[in-house]
Amino acid sequence: MSEVLINNVLEELGFRYDPNSVYQQTINSVLHAAALLELPHHLQLILAQPKNEIMVHFPVKMDSGRYRLFKGYRVQHNNLLGPFKGGIRYHASVNLDEIKALAAIMTMKCSLLRLPLGGAKGGVQVDPRSISQDELMRLTRRFTTALGDNIGPDYDIPAPDLGTNAQTMAWMADTYMMMSMPSHSARGQSVVTGKPLEFGGSVGRDKATGQGLVFVLEEILPELGLKLETISISLIGFGNVGSWTGRLLCQRGAKLRAVLDHTGAIRSDSGIDAAALTAHVEKTGGVTGFPGADAINEDDFYRTKVDVFIPAALEQMVDLERAKIMDCKVVAEAANAPTTPPGERHLQDRGIPVLPAVLCNAGGVTVSYFEWKQNRQAETWDAETVDAQLKKHMFAAAARVKLAKHRFDCDMRTAAYVAALESIGRVYRLRGIFP
Ligand code: NAD
Repeated sequence: MSEVLINNVLEELGFRYDPNSVYQQTINSVLHAAALLELPHHLQLILAQPKNEIMVHFPVKMDSGRYRLFKGYRVQHNNLLGPFKGGIRYHASVNLDEIKALAAIMTMKCSLLRLPLGGAKGGVQVDPRSISQDELMRLTRRFTTALGDNIGPDYDIPAPDLGTNAQTMAWMADTYMMMSMPSHSARGQSVVTGKPLEFGGSVGRDKATGQGLVFVLEEILPELGLKLETISISLIGFGNVGSWTGRLLCQRGAKLRAVLDHTGAIRSDSGIDAAALTAHVEKTGGVTGFPGADAINEDDFYRTKVDVFIPAALEQMVDLERAKIMDCKVVAEAANAPTTPPGERHLQDRGIPVLPAVLCNAGGVTVSYFEWKQNRQAETWDAETVDAQLKKHMFAAAARVKLAKHRFDCDMRTAAYVAALESIGRVYRLRGIFP
């Protein structure tokens, strides 16, 4: 095989090639961009490993009176540009490799958006749908306590992700504030973002990731000969990111043809009403049984002809087999790391560009940054200000990616990492390596 399987930097750090490691896939792409930029070797070494990997085990009393032991992670990849920042996910398959990959992606995302933040990610191995709200609250409080001083408003600021939401963040903030000295307690609110509006949240945070993707598509689709107002789309996932993306794109005139979630897949050639589907999912927990569309199987979902295919659920869902049957003009990654390298290569060979997550879903962390800023300055922005600022940030990031693509004649993922690494490289050169 002529292809290089593992980057020499990863090899130097003692990694053994693992085709299923999302971390190795992510760092390989980052290092490919670093090599194009001729980033010094020692900086490549630093970026190829997270700064801190925290793993905790903690007991939670379940409603039955029994105790269960849970495993949680917080990986802090890099804080060169500012405090660590990244979501917390609750999912049964959460593991260290995945959390490390997502933390590294956050470093790149914050840098690409020129936010004064670093990259982190965390999670707990639990299916949140399988336990009660009270159990979820106790789990969240114990996890926050177990993380202790490893998080903080000036140090590491979590946010919601897969399986967590504004309520989870309210419990995390409250727990952190209860553990703080009374005189510092009020400031503790900004330990997390994505909080409910009534408790220090920002207007526009719930729709931010979907809204950011709409701005990115607005900026990039014309180059691909497509118009936002007339595209057809399909979505994997109809949770926070998927449902907002669907609703916002439909409001602009797009047609939602098919949706796949953990309960099944649906399709309607005349278009699915995204607002009605949101109400159905809120009531029933999934897209299955939605009266405005036909039930289809998973393969038929991937085969559905659309302009823009949007994965907004788990990692690695667009693999080689699925890439072979997909019928779309562009893939826009709303989820993190949804495309495997063989899947991406196949799509590229077919002339289907993949717009990377590091750009497409950066609206979430950008409005999280606005929330953190509002909390620290005791300000409340209105919806127009949030939208205008988000648009400015997303357009600028998309422009950086387009510029890097033209300069280096590379794919969009490499271009996004180049644009992120340029800023990181400059700051490392200015700061130097201590001592
Ligand atoms: P969510 O928990 O609100 O929704 C997850 C969706 O994925 C649900 O619709 C669920 O049915 C679906 N899903 C789960 N397992 C599936 C399976 N096996 N097959 C098909 N669908 C499945 O999560 P979210 O916050 O919308 O996050 C989705 C993705 O977006 C994740 O990759 C996350 O990291 C990324 N992301 C989220 C945010 C944010 O602000 N929430 C920001 C940036 C990136």
